[in-house]
Amino acid sequence: MNYLPHNWSRHIEWIDFHTHDKRGEAHVLRVLSLEAEDAVHRIAFQEPNMLFTVGLHPWRLDADQSVFNRRLNLLKSLAKRQHVVGLGEAGLDRLHGPGLECQCKYFSAFLSLADELNKTVIVHCVRCFPELLSIKKLFPDRVRLMIHGFNAKTPLLEQLIQHNCRISLGAQGVARDDVMNWFRLHPEYISSLCLETDDSGLSIKTIYEQAARQLQISLDELSQIMKTNFKTLFEFE
Ligand SMILES: [Zn+2]
Repeated sequence: MNYLPHNWSRHIEWIDFHTHDKRGEAHVLRVLSLEAEDAVHRIAFQEPNMLFTVGLHPWRLDADQSVFNRRLNLLKSLAKRQHVVGLGEAGLDRLHGPGLECQCKYFSAFLSLADELNKTVIVHCVRCFPELLSIKKLFPDRVRLMIHGFNAKTPLLEQLIQHNCRISLGAQGVARDDVMNWFRLHPEYISSLCLETDDSGLSIKTIYEQAARQLQISLDELSQIMKTNFKTLFEFE
């Protein structure tokens, strides 16, 4: 079970669902994504307005299974720390990392761990959506994924959402008329939308502003929606 920082909703206006930006910013709650080895020296995962996910990025996977197993064990110990609310990045990338077959095997192991620990997974997926969905289908529906930096075509959106995946958009995503129109025309799926800065260095507020414009809703309304989505995504008490 995850616990929210004390009094969080009173002073938080913007939630950054996935970032690599370690800077603190007033009124922003960041979910900082760390690679397992970079997280290991962080004795206390305790910084104001910061929560964490710990992962094994597909670009840095080793084809040697024993290396992977060792790293997965490290990840497992880190995932149990307080303020680590999810796992990731993890996923599949057709253009980088070890062979796809190997990546699929590792991703399955990753999802097993996520299920065992009841943690949401932040997913990096590049041109591997059919593989992602077929692996996801092997697991119970309760396994929650957030597809970060979604950059595929819109027909996939509905399919992913129906398989309990959330869609996180960064600067490029919220600038896409097709994706944003799709959400505007399907308000029933807005509960699956998340917003992120990733490694852009941008302020999350700019991303909210553009998303609100595209969705034709107020910034306040969007901020409320994101708070609700955040609580369900990470299963906060
Ligand atoms: Zn990232």
